Amino acid sequence: MAHRIGFPRCLYYYTYFPFWKGFFETIGVEVVTSPPTSKEILDRGVKEAISDICMPIKLAFGHLLALPPDLDYIFLPRYVNVSKEDHVTFCPKFLALPDLVRATLSDLPPLLTPRIAFREGRRATLRTLREIASTFGVTSFWTVYRAYRRALNLQRRYDQLLQQGYLPDEAMAVLAGRKVDITRPEGDLTIAVVGFPYDLYDRFISLDLIKKLRSYGVRVVTPEMIPPQVLKKQLARLPKNLFWEFSNRVIRAALHYLHEEKVDGIIHVIAFACGPGTFVDKMLELETKEHGQVPFLSLTLDEHTGQAGFLTRLEAFVDMMRLRRMVS
Ligand code: SF4
Repeated sequence: MAHRIGFPRCLYYYTYFPFWKGFFETIGVEVVTSPPTSKEILDRGVKEAISDICMPIKLAFGHLLALPPDLDYIFLPRYVNVSKEDHVTFCPKFLALPDLVRATLSDLPPLLTPRIAFREGRRATLRTLREIASTFGVTSFWTVYRAYRRALNLQRRYDQLLQQGYLPDEAMAVLAGRKVDITRPEGDLTIAVVGFPYDLYDRFISLDLIKKLRSYGVRVVTPEMIPPQVLKKQLARLPKNLFWEFSNRVIRAALHYLHEEKVDGIIHVIAFACGPGTFVDKMLELETKEHGQVPFLSLTLDEHTGQAGFLTRLEAFVDMMRLRRMVS
């Protein structure tokens, strides 16, 4: 029987899943994901995780517990770095996640927790991939190399689809061979919705923010729609680089939309108790005030976020931008 590995649908799922799915399937391992986030998954995570940690990590606990109990392994890599930029790493809670889970949850299938540091180059990456493959009895260098190439190709294709405007679920459907129509109404306003991918694209956690904005006739743009080389140009506007991978992407995307594309407004989505997000939020607030007075809305998500208050703020923000356009 084929080996089966579990992949929780949270955190890096929205960014790197195509790579790992391509890799595991090529070495003959079936990938099983947890279901899309639901109230039950979130409640379970909140109950099991330590109380003062950020909501996305609590949610990760819920997703781990939602995976089938008879898997060979759960894949829970320790993401250390991916970009070539010095000193840029992942948030400490990402780094500590395998330890947090081991210390808290005892009834899970075994965890596979390789250290992922793509900045160390292709040779080191292949060494890590060979170690992962050997866990499943795959020792041929060429099989691992083939899996690596396929994983890279899928990831590149996925990133391109996101840049073309597909949302992660839509892009994954396209990779799986399904047809997805992303024709959207033009929209009289353009709003940049920025935030960490696991907050923006989890439809339950984000209260389907992107879809709601579109239903108000708004064209929505997000950080994943900007190619990395374009994002990098915004580095010149910052006094220094930030330490965290996702924070850099968010702030650069917001600056790009603020200065290059001149959007009508910016919404920053941030999870409650997120240190890096709070830091970015303040920087964006100051930047939007200083340059051009672009309306800026900060939306904090937590496990208690209610639809009613959230929608009221969103609708008021959109109405205010339409009013602003009428009087200008
Ligand atoms: S970046 Fe923020 S939301 Fe993400 S894991 Fe770290 S503290 Fe949590």
